[in-house]
Amino acid sequence: MLKILAVTSEIFPLVKTGGLADVAGALPLALAKQGIAVTTLMPGYPAVLAALPAAETVLTDPDLFGGPARLLRAETAGLDLLVLDAPHLYNRPGNPYTKPDGADWPDNALRFGALANTAARIARDGAGGFLPDILHAHDWQAALAMAYVTFTDGRRPGTVLTVHNLAFQGLFPASLFGALGLPPAAFSMDGVEFHGQIGFLKAGLALADRITTVSPTYAAEIQTPEFGMGLDGLLRHRAADLHGILNGIDTDIWNPATDKLIAATFDAKTLPARAANKRAVQDRFGLAPDPGRLLLGVISRLTWQKGLDLLLDAIADIPAQDAQLVILGAGERGMEQGFAAAAAAHPGAIGCVIGYDEPLAHQIQAGIDALLVPSRFEPCGLTQLCALRYGALPIVARTGGLADTVIDANEAALAAGAGTGLQFGPGQFRPALQRAAALWRRPPAWRRLQHNALVADFSWRIPASQYAALYKSLVKQG
Ligand code: ADP
Repeated sequence: MLKILAVTSEIFPLVKTGGLADVAGALPLALAKQGIAVTTLMPGYPAVLAALPAAETVLTDPDLFGGPARLLRAETAGLDLLVLDAPHLYNRPGNPYTKPDGADWPDNALRFGALANTAARIARDGAGGFLPDILHAHDWQAALAMAYVTFTDGRRPGTVLTVHNLAFQGLFPASLFGALGLPPAAFSMDGVEFHGQIGFLKAGLALADRITTVSPTYAAEIQTPEFGMGLDGLLRHRAADLHGILNGIDTDIWNPATDKLIAATFDAKTLPARAANKRAVQDRFGLAPDPGRLLLGVISRLTWQKGLDLLLDAIADIPAQDAQLVILGAGERGMEQGFAAAAAAHPGAIGCVIGYDEPLAHQIQAGIDALLVPSRFEPCGLTQLCALRYGALPIVARTGGLADTVIDANEAALAAGAGTGLQFGPGQFRPALQRAAALWRRPPAWRRLQHNALVADFSWRIPASQYAALYKSLVKQG
């Protein structure tokens, strides 16, 4: 059986700040069905250690970057975990990357350097009888593992780096290099050096055998200066080894036929039952309980990436078109305040909840007619996949994974009975809102699109088989 060491800084259900956690939590379960065993290495944050009281110690280290460390092995929720318990690095409450005031922890280079260093040690020497065939690192927090396996002697398994978001690169001052325990040769253009700094993600991109990112369109976009965030040259150089593999969603957690969090369960054959969920959302957000008004929704981090300032600019269009809007999100202060103010200015038409609320996200997906995702860039995007699964039509910017997962309901598509949502190009957000309103006035067409969305397959089955093929190609290569 092929054995994979996955390395991640977060994993659902133990610790999550974004889509990375969902992928890290779901992919091992999907790969198990394909006969591939994944063991996942992650930091021992307090919440992780608390959730794993039965964990067993498999290795100890008296001094890992300034303090003692233990490697623990545990199983939970079908996941086989190796947890790096290093209190001097990880015994801090709250967000895995930032202090309570929101600033990055000043020793993040050491915190995630230690994770990567441990990954390389397991890849080389094994741990508790586990010796991986493939080392699969996720994002910058794990990417330096590629440098440790390359620039130190010993066994080197096949390596894969997955980029979930190129915006987060793990850049640190060169003065920290000495503390990372890499040989001087690693600080080079072919290694960790990036414009005079240390680049964790850059090192992984330069050194991994294969690179994946989370959609085919994003894989192409990041090779351009517009989306490459300074790494497009390196990515073009690595183009032959760069693959786009779409994320899936957990179709058991996200299943409108069995979801206990929503007012009324439904599926493609019982669509009328969905109406109770729309009513529940209207009630929850204090909107007029009118089934005939187009109900739009947003579930998102409120950041520049997500393009929601475009929605704020166009917000008066929504009541003007007799539509309604609900927003669930948290993030930048100005945007939180903007949406709260819009809700106050348009009572009955716009409602807003600031915060992170997983059950409410399910209820919104089950009740809204359409989900707005105007992202400036979107590596894959999960929220539009959940929307499709729940019969909410995504209205998305034509970028990254949004372009790959939503089929635009233009007239040709409609005539062919195809389409699952709307896509719009640069500067076309307001026209897209008008297109949605026009489509809403054609109930048979809308129902057809909803049906198409509900029967589309965005499970992990196909993506997992693509990762499996990638792993196998590396092992064959030897
Ligand atoms: P990103 O990882 O960039 O934040 P994704 O769409 O890939 O965006 O994944 C984010 C996930 O978190 C989606 O499933 C989305 O529905 C969910 N989400 C985002 N914001 C919230 C929120 N405020 N409350 C509940 N769920 C949220």
